[in-house]
Amino acid sequence: MAELEKCIECGKVIKDESHAPYCKKCDEKLDKHFDTIEDNILIFRELLDSEIETLKKFESEDINDLFKRVHKKFKDDNKLDNQSLIILNKLKDAFKIDEKKLGLSPIPVVKETREDRLLKNNQCPDCEKEIQKDFSLCPYCGFKLKKDK
Ligand SMILES: [Zn+2]
Ligand SMILES: [Zn+2]
Repeated sequence: MAELEKCIECGKVIKDESHAPYCKKCDEKLDKHFDTIEDNILIFRELLDSEIETLKKFESEDINDLFKRVHKKFKDDNKLDNQSLIILNKLKDAFKIDEKKLGLSPIPVVKETREDRLLKNNQCPDCEKEIQKDFSLCPYCGFKLKKDK
């Protein structure tokens, strides 16, 4: 008797002969999720750790293509700044992407610092208390929140 193939996402037995790891429903759901993640990257320039986990369910070819699309879009829009580079580096690290193999020029290493991360979460980088985005000084510890330009 042939072994039943089960969807690795929901565990349901896959009845068709596709030999895909996911059932049709989960496959569609994941594809949608993939599009949402791509939009988040391109529009909001954000990539959450949970989104990286979702992307890990895809083939490396899909991820490489995503990387190329995102890189091209940032470049075309003249948005290849630190915020974009942080995302590209996140993808690179999570998926061991080699930009040279993708025919891209080397991407400068820019990592999100602890300070960036806390500020993004509306937390003071020093005392970690909750603050508002428009504060220039932390009301709790006096930490300078806005860098002088
Ligand atoms: Zn499923
Ligand atoms: Zn503080």
